[in-house]
Amino acid sequence: MMTRKEYEDSLRKMNLNVWFMGEKIENPVDHPIIRPSMNSVGMTYELAQMPEYQEVMTAVSNLTGKRINRFCHLHQSTEDLKNKVKMQRLLGQKTASCFQRCVGMDAFNAIYSTTYEIDEACGTEYHKRFVEYLKYVQDNDLVVDGAMTDPKGDRGLSPSQQEDPDLYLHIDEVREDGIIVSGAKAHQTGAINSHEHLIMPTIAMREEDADYAVSFACPSDAEGILMIYGRQSCDTRKSEEYHDIDPGNTEFGGHEALVVFDRVFIPKERVFMCREYQFAGMMVERFAGYHRQSYGGCKVGVGDVLIGAAALAADYNGVPKATHIKDKIIEMTHLNETLYACGIACSSEGKQMKAGNYMVDLLLANVCKQNITRFPYEIARLAEDIAGGIMVTMPSEADLRHPELGKVVRKYLVGAKGKHVENRMRILRLIENITLGTAAVGYRTESMHGAGSPQAQRIMIARQSDLESKKEMARNIAKIDVSLDH
Ligand code: SF4
Ligand code: FE
Repeated sequence: MMTRKEYEDSLRKMNLNVWFMGEKIENPVDHPIIRPSMNSVGMTYELAQMPEYQEVMTAVSNLTGKRINRFCHLHQSTEDLKNKVKMQRLLGQKTASCFQRCVGMDAFNAIYSTTYEIDEACGTEYHKRFVEYLKYVQDNDLVVDGAMTDPKGDRGLSPSQQEDPDLYLHIDEVREDGIIVSGAKAHQTGAINSHEHLIMPTIAMREEDADYAVSFACPSDAEGILMIYGRQSCDTRKSEEYHDIDPGNTEFGGHEALVVFDRVFIPKERVFMCREYQFAGMMVERFAGYHRQSYGGCKVGVGDVLIGAAALAADYNGVPKATHIKDKIIEMTHLNETLYACGIACSSEGKQMKAGNYMVDLLLANVCKQNITRFPYEIARLAEDIAGGIMVTMPSEADLRHPELGKVVRKYLVGAKGKHVENRMRILRLIENITLGTAAVGYRTESMHGAGSPQAQRIMIARQSDLESKKEMARNIAKIDVSLDH
């Protein structure tokens, strides 16, 4: 396993084609706005080296027998599935942001089981190739950007009906030695901090969309790849002269990027689906299931920090004993633990797949994510309620550090007796960061749209809910004689 430092150095060696705000970024590792998101990924390495976290952060590979980072692991039991969620909660607590490495882990598990079933049906050799690829990833402890979401253009049209074929990533050419692909993957979590991209289709496909049914892996700096870093609310606070208080979370962050493929060559050893359109939906459903489980861990960990921050804000405001404040904290905790319960439940009810690895219970994972589209918003609302309007109206750190203005800021931002003004500002800015700033990408809007927007879960809930058997239960209890109906 790599250390955090070795991970950083390994990224420095890559020749990434990254752009941010109209400029090519030659050194993303040390860029003040990008660096915090890399620090979050760095924690997935750092914690894995610590003996007290070994059980949750690492696992023994079923492919090589070696101890590996859990982010590279194929789940071998429901215990593994639960440990995954616990690891994500832990990292959410340590970073208060998206730590990005889960998309790769979820892709490994989805592609491993799907390629097994493609091979079984089609006589292909994708599974064997994928196993070789995953051994390479595990042995080198790589970060992999599991990439699913296409830009999608006109949402009313299928991939092959789009005016511009690149709006869904697709095969341009199949050659003897590999394939050529073009298109893009949008809002790719952690793309710039990843060694590899691992691509999956974004929706179920029909025969006419066969060129869009493609899965493959390539290095993030492969020829023909361009990445545009997505900007976030309040991101430039990280590059201001005074950037110790105002960003709210100076060390950690997450990021998303638009990743564009312009006729990128993929050698055939790295191709895991090539026009088997019947299996696109299976791969999507499995990846989405795992990632919907993931949110029952990571968002809960960030929620823990937000609950703590709200309680501290009450202390700094001088009202920790007010009954309505206590009740709001209880409500936040209740909602947050309900999300965790969903993450653990869909893991406990997991089942072994034909390929051997374990899959979460899809109905419960979709219920988990559906709750995630709601509860973090309510938790954030309560945190803002407790913090007070000052969390978004207070003067800047530059004012605090100013020789004259600083005195005014200290005089009028004072809160509870004995509490330091600067500390009060820090905790309020942290709440702002999680609910409205750079971390809000991961905590709020991603809770809505990440791992699929709410409607995608409702479709899965409808499909998995087995309504007919419930009707039968009701018929039996009500002693309905169906022969009387017509
Ligand atoms: Fe991991 Fe959560 Fe970020 Fe997805 S949103 S990559 S599950 S931390
Ligand atoms: Fe996500």
